[in-house]
Amino acid sequence: MGTIASLQLPGEIPFSPLRQEAERIYKEVTDNFSAWDSSSALSHINQEAGHSSITVPQTFSPLLSRTLIVAKQSGGAFNPLVGPLIDCWGFHGRKDGEIKIPTDEQLEKIKPLIQFDQIQIKGQQIGLARKGMQLDLGGVAKGYAVDRVWVALTQRNVESALIDLGGNLRCIGESKKGRGGWNTAIRNPFRRRDLVASFLLHPGEAVATSGNYERFVEINHKRYAHIIDPRTGHPVEGTASVTVIAPTAEKADILSTTLFVLGQKDGMRFLEKYAKDCDAIWIPDTPQTPTLFCTKGINKRDFNSSWKTVILASST
Ligand code: AMP
Ligand code: MG
Repeated sequence: MGTIASLQLPGEIPFSPLRQEAERIYKEVTDNFSAWDSSSALSHINQEAGHSSITVPQTFSPLLSRTLIVAKQSGGAFNPLVGPLIDCWGFHGRKDGEIKIPTDEQLEKIKPLIQFDQIQIKGQQIGLARKGMQLDLGGVAKGYAVDRVWVALTQRNVESALIDLGGNLRCIGESKKGRGGWNTAIRNPFRRRDLVASFLLHPGEAVATSGNYERFVEINHKRYAHIIDPRTGHPVEGTASVTVIAPTAEKADILSTTLFVLGQKDGMRFLEKYAKDCDAIWIPDTPQTPTLFCTKGINKRDFNSSWKTVILASST
């Protein structure tokens, strides 16, 4: 998945079997959902777009169906067919080596390829209606993978753990008896090595961050985030990072990407309507006036930051 995985297990338990189990799960998720590996199930679906359906492993359709729910709820801010736009902007590395801003005409041509109601799911058969359509579950697969490891460890009676896959975290129990969970932190999007805020993850909870500093392309000295607003065809500007705390890592992952696209105002509306059980922290792309915009639930998490912190009022 092009990132680093870590597993913290503070108890005195045999580590190797758990590590092996986590590695097995991460490999399975990559085999199913990787957009980079041309032999993954997802790549097979993309290769057959406009042709035929592919029989996928059992776990594939449920995850895809759940992402389609968020795609609809968010009015297409999250779009699992974002692949052709990602390609067009060169986020997966352009074959011709040259990076240019796509023309309006090019973006217009891609529009029919990102209509997510044209994904056909019939049980374990998945097909894309048009040639050129490309599934990309990069905004949700890591969180999903973390949940799978979380379930596996819980079933093996692990009582305390922190699972981290490239900034998608979920905890089991407490880091130490009496802590009330696991203390976690948010990176400074303007100086990656620094942390800007810390807070408590309650037992079982997850957190994910989408940031414009993780993956980007530079065109004419301007940085373009790897997250695209499918409604405009352009990379999202104005936001440096969005962190979401949620009951599961899949939810935290998909919502961090979704809220990055929606921005603060529409993002708050979305949370109030569809995800009341989540908290979010937006950092606007204003390094001169660094500010954190947080939902009010953050106050119940020993939240600490030296930056200016604004608690967002409800949108209604
Ligand atoms: P994340 O780091 O979880 O925010 O995921 C970013 C990844 O999600 C990108 O690298 C793309 O693969 C994919 N992506 C980018 N924009 C969108 C979008 N609007 N909807 C769904 N997936 C997206
Ligand atoms: Mg995400």
